[in-house]
Amino acid sequence: MINIPYDQLIAMILEKKQISREELESRIKAKMNQLSGLISRVGAAHIVANELGIRLLDSMGGKLKIGKILAGMRDVETLGKVVQVFEPRAFEGKLGQGKVGSIVIADETGQIRVVLWNDMANLIDRIKTGDIVRVIGGQARQNSGQRELHLNAKSRLIINPPGESVAEVKAPEPPKRYQISELQGNEAMAEIKATIVQVFDLRFYEVCPKCMKRLQPKGEEWHCQAHGKVQPDYSYVLNMIADDGSGTIRVVCFGRSVEAISGMTREELLRVREEPGLFDETKNNLLGSIMLFRGRALRNEMFDRIEFIARQVSPVDVDREIEMLKERVEQESMANPSIPAQTTASTDTTKPTPTQPSTAPDTQTRAEAESKPQTTEQTTEESVSPIPDEQKEKPGADAEEIDDFDIDEELV
Ligand SMILES: [Zn+2]
Repeated sequence: MINIPYDQLIAMILEKKQISREELESRIKAKMNQLSGLISRVGAAHIVANELGIRLLDSMGGKLKIGKILAGMRDVETLGKVVQVFEPRAFEGKLGQGKVGSIVIADETGQIRVVLWNDMANLIDRIKTGDIVRVIGGQARQNSGQRELHLNAKSRLIINPPGESVAEVKAPEPPKRYQISELQGNEAMAEIKATIVQVFDLRFYEVCPKCMKRLQPKGEEWHCQAHGKVQPDYSYVLNMIADDGSGTIRVVCFGRSVEAISGMTREELLRVREEPGLFDETKNNLLGSIMLFRGRALRNEMFDRIEFIARQVSPVDVDREIEMLKERVEQESMANPSIPAQTTASTDTTKPTPTQPSTAPDTQTRAEAESKPQTTEQTTEESVSPIPDEQKEKPGADAEEIDDFDIDEELV
């Protein structure tokens, strides 16, 4: 059953029928009254649409704008510009080996993750950021609050169809901002703004040059699950401790996130493997800098603490911070009209650099991290073990991210 929100339902009817919004809404109200409140507003809107001779399901045929795709829709056709590409990965399912990869596409109305299963996943090798893709026969689902479009053997994906273009792309909604102390360890996508107070040494691990997946050693050789014996390539992981005034948290960056936060190229970072001193300057520069981290928070059961896997790292955007602060003050003064806005404003978000370790537990965490950097760095592996079981359930989970977890597991 497709759950069309009321506003969208109204928009769909108005698109199909010459009728004013007022008239439509009053007909819907009349219908609800007529049925003595036995149906919802949405239910009444469906009945009115029917009476007006509008087939709502039909109106979903043909190409849809990305913003109009709703979880539950089948046979969705849409067009978008590729804004992100995630390498496919292999997984072991009930029916044997499978493969899944994903891309994120966008148009002026929104963006959506397109998940490609099995043979469809092979197309990803030919897709790059900026390509236009037409998707036919997708199935829309909801995963962790995000819409996804799943493609299987019956679906089609056409790369750069002739004569098609996407003029502008809607900027993605930033994830919700959390204070470190608010994190529960189950946030699939969160944003924190924090000061880096400790940086560990850059660590390296062997990856498959073809799929970038963590390799398993077999005697002297390196083996990839999908590609067999390969000459290993390397990727890197950087552990840091960050503090936002409400608490501290271990932040873990992999691969491209390390490149983003260090400002170093892959070539430069790989040289650090031979010569660790080449990373010292970056380490010093990072200490004390305030960064925005976006990614997932998860609980490390063994160490009873929450860690943050950063997928995206960027400097703080001052204009956006001011906007967020304004919104917050407005919301809070609306919620508590008796409290003057200034009072709420001065309590937290205005603090420019929350560098002091604020509470006793934080200090303890840091002291522990400082005294035993080796131990603490090894620990990220614990946080990761549940992921493989979730792979079937949560195909939309970022393929790369799952690889990161595999990697973490191995860092002993
Ligand atoms: Zn491989």
